[in-house]
Amino acid sequence: MTALLELWHVSLVYGAGEQAVDALRDVSVEVQPGELVAVMGASGSGKSSLLAIAGGLTRPTSGEVLVDGQALAQVSPKQLAALRRRSLGFVFQDYNLVPTLTAAENVGLPLELDGWSRRRVRGAAVAALEAVGLADKADRFPDDLSGGQQQRVAIARAVVGPRRLVLADEPTGALDSTTGELVLRMLRARVDAGAGGLLVTHDARHAAWADRIVFLRDGSVIDTRQAPDPGSLLTEARA
Ligand code: ADP
Ligand code: MG
Repeated sequence: MTALLELWHVSLVYGAGEQAVDALRDVSVEVQPGELVAVMGASGSGKSSLLAIAGGLTRPTSGEVLVDGQALAQVSPKQLAALRRRSLGFVFQDYNLVPTLTAAENVGLPLELDGWSRRRVRGAAVAALEAVGLADKADRFPDDLSGGQQQRVAIARAVVGPRRLVLADEPTGALDSTTGELVLRMLRARVDAGAGGLLVTHDARHAAWADRIVFLRDGSVIDTRQAPDPGSLLTEARA
């Protein structure tokens, strides 16, 4: 089985000389299909940098990044753009939905950009919305939806079509805890259906939905833990 994401000995330095910041130091992380990996750490510890590198938005200073078995350093800018459209989905704290497009149009956007026919786009978008419990909201505009519903639309957009690797940077940050829990439940369901997820979170209760938790400090992985056994935090969080 090919890992959806592999980071090998990744380091990232912003700037140079006196101004240089070591954002990541020798970080290795793997995400397999069916696996949700949480990343925790204080502000400035490198969490967003890690996600940007995993998504091919930032190139590491050293180390290797593979998405779906493809080394990002070896693909052309055009191939990288296609890989981002087809394999990767991003979910951010502020949803990033296009306000002038309906829920279904937002979800279908990456497929449309990839040249799918209108009918196929609509079918895939509605199916993705169905999977996050929002089939009845397909033709609503973002303004018409609650924060939690908007974030579920963002999750649907991140996993629509063939995309299987979801990169989520504090996706529940702007939501109340009940709604945040629901969003996590949806993300977990997509991962259980075969996707892989890398989830940045501050909240230990949300991290308990993950299979593994990676702790960052000053750009280094200081600890990797399996999520708690069933019977403790996990069953509580999932109940
Ligand atoms: P986190 O998401 O955990 O808060 P970041 O990955 O955003 O951490 O930042 C890691 C470190 O890199 C911090 O010291 C931050 O100030 C620095 N940093 C982030 N982005 C930039 C940038 N574009 N230029 C210079 N330094 C940056
Ligand atoms: Mg951050």
